[in-house]
Amino acid sequence: MKCRVCRGEAVIDIRRHNANFCAEHFLAYFRRQVQRAIENHRMFAKEDRILVAVSGGKDSLALWDVLLDLGYDASGLYLGLGIGGYSERSRMSARRFAQSKGALLIEEEVEDRLGGTIPEAAEKSRRSPCGVCGLTKRHLMDRVAVDKGFDVLATGHNLDDEAAVLFGNVIRWEMEYIARQRPVLPEGGGFPRKVKPLFRLTERETAAWCVIRGIDYVVEECPMAAGNRHLRYKELLDTLEEMSPGSKAEFVLGFIDRLSPLLGGDSPARELGTCSSCGAPTSSEVCAFCSLGERVRGAGRH
Ligand code: SF4
Ligand SMILES: [Zn+2]
Ligand SMILES: [Zn+2]
Repeated sequence: MKCRVCRGEAVIDIRRHNANFCAEHFLAYFRRQVQRAIENHRMFAKEDRILVAVSGGKDSLALWDVLLDLGYDASGLYLGLGIGGYSERSRMSARRFAQSKGALLIEEEVEDRLGGTIPEAAEKSRRSPCGVCGLTKRHLMDRVAVDKGFDVLATGHNLDDEAAVLFGNVIRWEMEYIARQRPVLPEGGGFPRKVKPLFRLTERETAAWCVIRGIDYVVEECPMAAGNRHLRYKELLDTLEEMSPGSKAEFVLGFIDRLSPLLGGDSPARELGTCSSCGAPTSSEVCAFCSLGERVRGAGRH
């Protein structure tokens, strides 16, 4: 297997591009894909302060690393979810990476803000852990980005994630979610701008980036993920990709280029009221996160 660029020994094959690359030219390909996503979708500029949501896994560390490597001003945000040893190992990966780069890592504890860890909050509110976790992460990431004055919040969603989410939304025709599934969501109404610079790259490629760059990421998946719908869709789409390489990219990139512009999801979030408890934007008296917190703390008192 020879590198498409230099004819040296290749370390990875990328079937959807019909290309093999050596380590050096794979890194160049990866940087190009990220730069193209940033420029084509006007995600941010060199002077912007970027907050990267870091889980300690391959996608978020690859994202943080490639942004620093491309010369962007990127800091990390780690949320302590309180999911046992998994959370602590993830935190260590995030800290090690930040230290090795001399980059700023902000750490926030869900327990301090919510009155319980994710597993405790799920039990006390009788909701699914992933439902509670998704709501909590969105809220805290938004708040930290806005309160600390970052220009943009970047997440490590890759092509496989985007394909699975889009598939799940399309089979249920969740039009509101479909309209907002974009590489960039503009700031407004008290929300930060949100971007996904890795949407053109697969998780196999983010893992390869980390291995070649010597990044020590947490390989284990969150124990709460087992059996969730998102993972099942990923498996289905992997089977399709196996039969017909390039399907996933056509599905996601075709959606973004052709359908998404017709859906008008790029308008800034409408102005909402503010939560009487935390000041976050909300259409109710108290935001969904604070009302979850009330349930978690209230349940503890009985
Ligand atoms: S799998 Fe669920 S609980 Fe675990 S990090 Fe993801 S959303 Fe949170
Ligand atoms: Zn090469
Ligand atoms: Zn609130």
